[in-house]
Amino acid sequence: MSPLSDTYRHQGQRRALARELRRRGIHDERVLAAISTVPRHLFFEPAFEAHAYQDKAFPIGEGQTISQPYTVAFQTQLLGVRPTDKVLEVGTGSGYQCAVLLKLTPHVDSIEFNEKLYARTRLRLPALGAGGAALHCGDGSVGLPGRAPFDGILVTAGAPGLPPALLRQLQIGGRLVIPVGDNQTQRMVRVTREGPESFVREEFEDFRFVPLLGASGWRA
Ligand code: SAM
Repeated sequence: MSPLSDTYRHQGQRRALARELRRRGIHDERVLAAISTVPRHLFFEPAFEAHAYQDKAFPIGEGQTISQPYTVAFQTQLLGVRPTDKVLEVGTGSGYQCAVLLKLTPHVDSIEFNEKLYARTRLRLPALGAGGAALHCGDGSVGLPGRAPFDGILVTAGAPGLPPALLRQLQIGGRLVIPVGDNQTQRMVRVTREGPESFVREEFEDFRFVPLLGASGWRA
């Protein structure tokens, strides 16, 4: 069997995962459809493949993780992506969240700080059907000024506070979804830019993420 094969068994496991996420409160049908479609097992190290459709985070090397499917679905649902939206993901990691975003809009930029992960994921994504994203290597805590403004910015690592550059790079009406807290737990926060200087902050559940590094993150 090809290492990139996606079998009926995998497809059935994905549908079961989507049902589980619906049971846990994910209700956006487009997000559930994306979770049912993206072959998460192909974003894993082969040693963990058998666990790919459990609702758990797993190591992807370099001390980093692929986020739990519930977390991916929760953040994506909060981002409220429309088909014409331009979206930035901070923390490409394995590329799985990026592939989920690409099911919702073709306009996805994703930035990864870790050079090895960036290089590996950049090579792998096209073969996984997620070659449509523009991948970047660098400190995403300062955003991507050359590609701004964005309708949505989704941060997949825990920040000590709201990075000012990410707020500035939001379009009016744009949303920033970011976990904010200490090194133990982070509260999921959504900030909507309602006007040039007007931002509305909402808070949701607590999660546990790897740290956001960089100028507006934690010290490496
Ligand atoms: N979204 C990823 C996925 O689907 O596999 C999971 C990301 S993992 C939880 C968080 C990622 O954020 C790690 O790959 C880490 O290297 C990256 N990261 C940490 N600080 C960053 C920064 N300042 N800019 C960009 N990426 C960063």
